[in-house]
Amino acid sequence: MTDTPLKSMFKLGIRQKVLLVLMFVLLASLTISGWLALQEEKENILKEVHQRGTDISRFVAKSLVYSVVGYDYHSIDLLLKEIVQTDDVGYSKVANIKGNTMAEAGKIVAKDASTMVMFNEKIMLDDDVVGVLTLGFSTEKTMHRLERQKFALIKREAFIILLIAIGEFFALSFIIIKPVGIMSKFFKQNEDDNNDATLGTIPITSNDEFGELAKQFNDLSYNLNIANSELQSRVDYADDELIKTNNVLLERSKELMDLNDEFKKLSVTDSLTGLFNRRYFEETLAREMEVSKRHGDTNSLLVLDIDHFKKVNDNYGHMHGDTVIKMIATVMKGRLRESDVLCRIGGEEFVVICRRAGKEDAVELAEDIRKTVEEQITNTGKDEDKVTISIGVVTVTKDNMDAHVEDIFKQADIALYHRKDNGRNRVTHYDDIT
Ligand code: GH3
Ligand code: MG
Ligand code: MG
Repeated sequence: MTDTPLKSMFKLGIRQKVLLVLMFVLLASLTISGWLALQEEKENILKEVHQRGTDISRFVAKSLVYSVVGYDYHSIDLLLKEIVQTDDVGYSKVANIKGNTMAEAGKIVAKDASTMVMFNEKIMLDDDVVGVLTLGFSTEKTMHRLERQKFALIKREAFIILLIAIGEFFALSFIIIKPVGIMSKFFKQNEDDNNDATLGTIPITSNDEFGELAKQFNDLSYNLNIANSELQSRVDYADDELIKTNNVLLERSKELMDLNDEFKKLSVTDSLTGLFNRRYFEETLAREMEVSKRHGDTNSLLVLDIDHFKKVNDNYGHMHGDTVIKMIATVMKGRLRESDVLCRIGGEEFVVICRRAGKEDAVELAEDIRKTVEEQITNTGKDEDKVTISIGVVTVTKDNMDAHVEDIFKQADIALYHRKDNGRNRVTHYDDIT
């Protein structure tokens, strides 16, 4: 959540807030306590004035008794004038019993009790009232003094309150604001280091609520750190296990793939000779014919059969027969090109798919193979025990490329059996059968 510019402009920390509250509370208490003190002082002064006024009035009334009874106006006048010379009394008057003024001095400045307080004292001779003394006590000077006192009081209180404020501020700073600052800094730092999963400890050890709070947090963070590292090690362990399992699975998967390759190979391999088998031959011939159709290539097919093989088996045994089959396979392999495909499609029958070979080339190759077998393979090592083969050849050109695969094979077979019927150990091309 972001603050508005106005809000962040007036953003106050705890320190500023505490200072403001302290100033406000102290200002209010200064005003109230000053006002109360002054009121009290005023009351005290008035009480004092009243007491003194009463005492002085009584004293003066007593000293005036005989002057009033003897109608000694002069003495009364002198005394009253003397009295108003004093600081306190501003007005004095003596009246006889009938209320007539006998003498008067000074003047009434105001009827207002705050500047002049009036005292009427009966002048008594024994139990008889012979006249009335009126004294006007001025409070003006006292009030001036009070006013001066007021400023002195305010200055003193302001000074004391300022001292208290400073003291309290520092005390609060140390007791509350400092720990809060430490916590705030700690949490801020923790937030900045959010890559680090471990929680630190709050460095507060005081013996108060902050200390308690920090202790509880530190305990909690300690437990959390332990739980976190345990969790982390479990995750790491699980990761390791997962990696191990994954590696095992990868190995198994590779083994399976190898096995699959092996099976695939086996499924197209002849176990006796290691050549491709009949199944591979049929698939490859079909595929090659498709490709040739698209590219217009000429291919040839050779079908080879060992001559009088039954006799070989009969004369030398089946095992020997197998050996002859293997020897012939090896000899043929040695005569073929890289692009030729040699397969054993039956007992002692073989085929060669000769890619991009025309009639002449195919017949030449067939002749070469036939001759090599004749020259190299014997049953006993003697010339009279030669093993020979007959070969039928067919060529697929653009003229017959639409023929079925089976038909092409059949033509090669026909060529082969034509040969068998007309003298073995030869090569016959299907096109040459008349
Ligand atoms: P031809 O010249 O007309 O081909 O005469 P042939 O005796 O070879 O006749 P054919 O091709 O019909 O006979 C194949 C013989 O090959 C039959 C069988 O006893 C033998 N044979 C077939 N498969 C195997 C094999 O895997 N091992 C051995 N040793 N003999 C086999
Ligand atoms: Mg045969
Ligand atoms: Mg045969």
